[in-house]
Amino acid sequence: MACIFCRIVAGEIPAKKVLETDAALAFEDLAPQAPTHVLVIPKRHVESVGGLGDEDAALSGKLLLAARDVARAKKLTDFRVVANSGAGAGQSVFHLHLHVLGGRPFDWPPG
Ligand code: 5GP
Ligand code: ZN
Repeated sequence: MACIFCRIVAGEIPAKKVLETDAALAFEDLAPQAPTHVLVIPKRHVESVGGLGDEDAALSGKLLLAARDVARAKKLTDFRVVANSGAGAGQSVFHLHLHVLGGRPFDWPPG
């Protein structure tokens, strides 16, 4: 299995798990960009937001709710949820993930 996040789901690569649901896994980012930086991924391989199908409506909602629950678990009232879709937008791992970032101020618009 080549996909690094599928390997994390399979337990082949260790990760610091934050929470797990039937459809999603949340774990600490290896190179945090903020005091809290957690990745929320679907357990099933989906390449990106752009790769979601219409049949993935329930999955998409579950991912967003998992991001909410990460923020609650980390006691964040203010936080940012980011999904880079495509290399030109900064995606480097091609298994859909939501970045949940918090614990510091964020600029808007982002760089
Ligand atoms: P992207 O650039 O695709 O939006 O974000 C990929 C994120 O995955 C980066 O923030 C990077 O630090 C993180 N990452 C890459 N490989 C690993 C890994 O093996 N374990 C964990 N926990 N995070 C990873
Ligand atoms: Zn994958």
